[in-house]
Amino acid sequence: MKQEHIDALRHLPIANQDLLIDGQWQPASSGQTLPVVSPIDGQTLCTLAAAGLADVDRAVQAARCSFEQGVWSRMAPAERKKVLHRIADRIEAHHAELAVLGVRDNGTEIAMAWKAEPGSAAGTFRYYAECADKINGEIAPTPDGTLGLIHKEPVGVVAAIVPWNFPLMIGAWKIAPALAAGNSVVLKPSEDASLSLLRLAQLCLDAGLPAGVLNVVTGTGAVTGDALARHMDVDILAFTGSGPVGRLLLKASAESNLKRVYLELGGKSPNIVFDDAPDLAHAAKVSAMGIYRNSGQVCVAGSRLLVQRSVHDEFVERLQKIAANLRVGDPLDVMTDIGAVCSRAQLSRNQKAVHTAREQGARWRVGGEVIAPVAGGFYMTPALFDGVTPDMTLAREEVFGPVLAVLPFDDEAEAVRLANDTTYGLASAVWTGNLSRAHRMVRAIKAGLVHVNTYGGPDITVPLGGVRQSGNGHDKSMHAMDKYLDLKTAWIQL
Ligand code: NAD
Repeated sequence: MKQEHIDALRHLPIANQDLLIDGQWQPASSGQTLPVVSPIDGQTLCTLAAAGLADVDRAVQAARCSFEQGVWSRMAPAERKKVLHRIADRIEAHHAELAVLGVRDNGTEIAMAWKAEPGSAAGTFRYYAECADKINGEIAPTPDGTLGLIHKEPVGVVAAIVPWNFPLMIGAWKIAPALAAGNSVVLKPSEDASLSLLRLAQLCLDAGLPAGVLNVVTGTGAVTGDALARHMDVDILAFTGSGPVGRLLLKASAESNLKRVYLELGGKSPNIVFDDAPDLAHAAKVSAMGIYRNSGQVCVAGSRLLVQRSVHDEFVERLQKIAANLRVGDPLDVMTDIGAVCSRAQLSRNQKAVHTAREQGARWRVGGEVIAPVAGGFYMTPALFDGVTPDMTLAREEVFGPVLAVLPFDDEAEAVRLANDTTYGLASAVWTGNLSRAHRMVRAIKAGLVHVNTYGGPDITVPLGGVRQSGNGHDKSMHAMDKYLDLKTAWIQL
């Protein structure tokens, strides 16, 4: 990643964007569009087609048609695998272009986006390419004279609705296993970060994915997303986003065709530091990035820091220094630690969280100011509050911004009680040099992911999913394939 390569791409003009339906790029039938505003400087980059009911219906029909014709669903798995590898090749060949395009759209610092976006998306396509020809059925242990076969079949039409943070990575987590299993897909990116996924769709066509197998409808959640969620011919809705929208999707499914709904939602993840942590300086550095990277717009962000009282003051002072020294600035500068907040609306939500924390009596230590390192852009310095109590809004509600709440605890039992005192259950971390304590905590914490002596970085080989109100189902790993396959029994009299 070199600054001159990034600078060569940062001002390229971006064409107005169409919908991809049945292999054809086309405007919305109503002609309506939405502006794409860059959080770097508040300038409009281009427009997105705003798909209405008729467009969504055509996209679902194209997906259904390709599925029933078998152009992909009945293609030899080894051939599907080759196409998925070719998609990964193309992502790698366009790595810099995809990374810079995504950052112009959503403001993630380039150092992070470089790895987490095209880098991870290519790896995800390769991982699931290798799954495509390893979907074995089963033979059940039936009595003599009968044969019970368990087939694994693609389900049909998968609608994937994804958020604006890490769109390529999260989009790939849904598209790649759904395609590897033989399904057809209709993708709905976030209206705040569609550009890199639209580019990915073209790369998929270039790699030989047949027309209609991947369709992309852009637009607002309330119109385009809702139309997909209520469509009678969508079999599966795979969603990553907020809890309130997750609830709407369950309702839409209940009121339409009972499509399966898989939800990957938010969190208020506890990051627990014991006084026997092997290296407090390292723990502070990693914990700071566990909440502040990508301006806190990370579903697994360690936004509730629980620190054992004996090391509390020392640890908070370390964090305060780190937060104060993080460089917030132009996300396309390779030296920037933290880029822009994705939208003006998210910046206002972050500010509201900071004001509420102050009003409710949390102790402000540093940050939380709106700044303008690039004129017109949306930026906020990383904020740290200690003296947070479990009843405060900052301890209970996800901000999805760079705001860290610190709560003290006395012993292991209190740490567990505080950690689980939440409606969420997405991620968590434990810092300790005591191996037995680490394993006890892994069992006691109610979350889909427990880091030990680190924060962030689990790769594609392990599942990501929440418990409680953080969702159901899993992205990543072989387990994600289960979401996109149906089991069919053949019961045979011999
Ligand atoms: P969001 O819920 O506002 O939007 C997500 C997607 O849903 C967007 O594409 C949006 O257009 C669409 N949408 C909005 N309203 C809709 C409706 N009524 N019907 C259908 N679709 C609709 O979330 P966001 O602000 O884009 O992302 C932030 C949230 O995502 C946070 O809560 C974060 O924790 C969560 N998230 C979770 C994970 C995970 O893996 N668990 C990963 C990333 C983000």
